[in-house]
Amino acid sequence: MIKIRTEEEIELLRVNALLVSKTLAEVGRHIAPGVSTKTLDAIAEAFIRDHGAEPAFLGYDGFPATLCISLNSTVVHGIPSDEVLKEGDVVSIDCGTRYKGYCGDSAYTFGVGELSDQDKMLLRVTHDALFKGIEQARSGNRVGDISAAVQSYAEQHGFSVVREMVGHGIGTKVHERPDVPNYGARGRGKLLSKGMVICIEPMINAGAKEVYLAEDGWALQTADDKKSAHFELTMVVREREPEILSTFNQIDEYYTKYQT
Ligand code: MG
Ligand code: MG
Repeated sequence: MIKIRTEEEIELLRVNALLVSKTLAEVGRHIAPGVSTKTLDAIAEAFIRDHGAEPAFLGYDGFPATLCISLNSTVVHGIPSDEVLKEGDVVSIDCGTRYKGYCGDSAYTFGVGELSDQDKMLLRVTHDALFKGIEQARSGNRVGDISAAVQSYAEQHGFSVVREMVGHGIGTKVHERPDVPNYGARGRGKLLSKGMVICIEPMINAGAKEVYLAEDGWALQTADDKKSAHFELTMVVREREPEILSTFNQIDEYYTKYQT
């Protein structure tokens, strides 16, 4: 069963979504060469707790941090460490919150300093693929309509879609039904109905789609060591246009490098 949320539940999911969005923007302001990923994680944890919420990823299946910070060829689930950012890095930040029994979950991929044209394109296409998927998140459509829109947009640009990790419903738990893959066929999969709340999160590789699990048991790495990007927003399925609960607006205010 896919849960249909009441407007009261949606408001609590919105509070979480906006806190996650603000946290990502706060972390993004501190991204610079020489900053360790552990430092970014500490900033996020303090920010979330200062707002009376809890980090939802900390302790999730034993995950040891507030943020998943995934550098360059790490697709998702990178563990923050003493490693420092360097000019030209691509850094994906994934953040989850829990507040009043509900959850938030969103992700953004930043560049550190100047990126190569190819890396800028990877980030722009992954960002735009997310919005291609969101356009399909409406009542009467199927999950496959979202999946196919994301996949075809990414592949048109010569990139590939990670299969092993997918988007998801969200509610009192971070990951709920349905799975929302970033690949698939139009008209297939679960039927979307108004009141469903889902996270769409394309993970797009510059090279081949194959990935492997790192020795730490968490980080997912591209098999060819090429870069990967990840953007995620939370939205409510409505009768017509989906209503996006989380936002990149605060990030867009200061970070406009590849959003042209
Ligand atoms: Mg997610
Ligand atoms: Mg996430």
